[in-house]
Amino acid sequence: MDDLKRKAHAVLKKFYGYDSFHPMQFEVIEHVMNGGDAVVLMPTGGGKSMCYQIPALLQPGCTIVVSPLLALMKDQVDALVANGIPAAAINSQQSESQNREIIDNVFCGNIKLLYISPERLIADMDQWSQDLRVSLIAIDEAHCISHWGHDFRPEYSQLGLVKERFRDVPVLALTATADRLTRLDIREQLNIKDAKLFIKSFDRPNISLNVVSGVTGRQKLRRIVKFIEAHPGQSGIVYCLRRDDTEKMAQNLRSLGINAQSFHAGMATSAKLKVQRDFINDDVQVICATIAFGMGIDKSNVRWIIHSNMPKNIESYYQEIGRSGRDGMPADALMFYSFGDVKTLMNFATSSGQAMVNIEKLNRMQQYAEATVCRRRMLLSYFNERYDHDCGNCDVCNNPPERFDGTTLCQMALSAIVRANQKVGFKLLIDILRGSRKSEVLAGGYDKIKTYGVGHDLTNSMWNAYLLQMLQLGLIYIAYEDEDHLKVTDYGSEVLYGKRQVMLSRFYYDNYQNKPAKKRQLVIDSQGEVDMELLEKLKLTRKAIAKARGMAPYMVFSDKVLTIMAQEKPITKAQFGTLYGVAEAKTNQYWLQFTAVIKEHLAKTKGR
Ligand code: ADP
Ligand code: ZN
Repeated sequence: MDDLKRKAHAVLKKFYGYDSFHPMQFEVIEHVMNGGDAVVLMPTGGGKSMCYQIPALLQPGCTIVVSPLLALMKDQVDALVANGIPAAAINSQQSESQNREIIDNVFCGNIKLLYISPERLIADMDQWSQDLRVSLIAIDEAHCISHWGHDFRPEYSQLGLVKERFRDVPVLALTATADRLTRLDIREQLNIKDAKLFIKSFDRPNISLNVVSGVTGRQKLRRIVKFIEAHPGQSGIVYCLRRDDTEKMAQNLRSLGINAQSFHAGMATSAKLKVQRDFINDDVQVICATIAFGMGIDKSNVRWIIHSNMPKNIESYYQEIGRSGRDGMPADALMFYSFGDVKTLMNFATSSGQAMVNIEKLNRMQQYAEATVCRRRMLLSYFNERYDHDCGNCDVCNNPPERFDGTTLCQMALSAIVRANQKVGFKLLIDILRGSRKSEVLAGGYDKIKTYGVGHDLTNSMWNAYLLQMLQLGLIYIAYEDEDHLKVTDYGSEVLYGKRQVMLSRFYYDNYQNKPAKKRQLVIDSQGEVDMELLEKLKLTRKAIAKARGMAPYMVFSDKVLTIMAQEKPITKAQFGTLYGVAEAKTNQYWLQFTAVIKEHLAKTKGR
């Protein structure tokens, strides 16, 4: 091993407790330490921060980290300080005298990593570029500089000046979201045209992908509750389409004994901050939120994400599920998908500024929801990434759809549509097929048509799912211009008149719940069984320490570290110190408390 590699590994172990680098981390470290500029694209949880933190620790001087979100800045600094790394942040939330003091410390060489907002760096850099020894400038969330990206921030637009002022300092741009155009634009805008690109696969193999279609209303709520009960004590987010849905959902869950709160952009800032804090501190288990939630938080132990409605495009979906499993431990994504979602989203898309693009994106999202091939393959191909095998961690891989001859079933529905003069929508059609006595059915005289009630032995959810498949296969379409009535296509007519056969995928009411993904190994790089009882005790200890120190539990130790601890059960300081993810500073601070709990547990369970 060459010298740099050895030193980098030593620092990784001492300050973070890790034994090896993730793919691409060391390559980036080596490149910037040799003075090169770089653009790094890695998915959330890929370990971007290490790419600048290790060079900061290995080199003289200070590394400047530009970050757009105050909350994230604070989290990162807290986490570094907890690991014994001298880091600080300058921002507008601190008093000017506090900021002054930090800057003095930076100039004295006491700070290795300085986090700063872009506007502040621009304001101060003329002076700094002359007097301060800067080892590296890292620009986090670098896509914010590009108009092509989805999150352009004007305060980023002047960062191109940085390279001019700090001529000899390498610039490292990092992002988790960049398509091809944004990527090129980042280099252009930051004035680092020769920067080397480092692109890591965007796959998040630890997140299991699941979709349930056709389930609505109370049934959906029941399914969500069942899901949460199957994840006891685990943090998760339920994404809803509208603000009042988040409130209703949280209320419903609370009334069933689940510790849930709502979060949306219409709430007062103080209320939002409180909900966010409580979630980060594991005081609230479930957040029911609109997409506004999750941007500014770095909680690594979010274990599951539910989309109670289909999101509007694959980019949003991927970003939202990506907020789970950042610690690399298994996480579950579950999405509900119904005709109602498509209808609502289609209305949004059609009335939006960029109707064509948005409708196309919605169509791709719908295709994903209806996939009968490995969902991960679909996702990664959407992001133009090569992935040539089935993942084994999605519902399609685990329960390949069973195909059956659905011609008769389709004919029932098609015939009902035709006999109702193609003047009925999804809901009413299902009522007719199932022989409902609802006033809408009777008022329209639909109880008199020949196909009334022919489909009574199929549930509402089944009809929903099969009609969705018929839509997807092109047997019917929705006339959005005609009150969303269902119309039969030419292909549909051929099926109705017996000229064509149709294969459908069998609908299982409890596809997801009854056949969950295969039992996955909890931890990959450790031996032995996880003692679940001990794990619970360790979590309580973590929480007590976090409370006492005013920090988030996941910052004391991640779920992964605790899980390994519950496997390996260290009882001495030396054993504790060699655990995965346990850095030197944390060994000194916490070994006594945790090993005491382990010893007591072992004594109690001996001979059981
Ligand atoms: P990103 O910024 O790309 O989302 P982070 O830098 O926050 O990712 O890292 C995600 C998690 O992975 C953190 O908990 C971090 O400590 C951990 N991590 C990073 N590098 C390694 C490594 N080489 N070995 C083990 N864990 C790592
Ligand atoms: Zn798969």
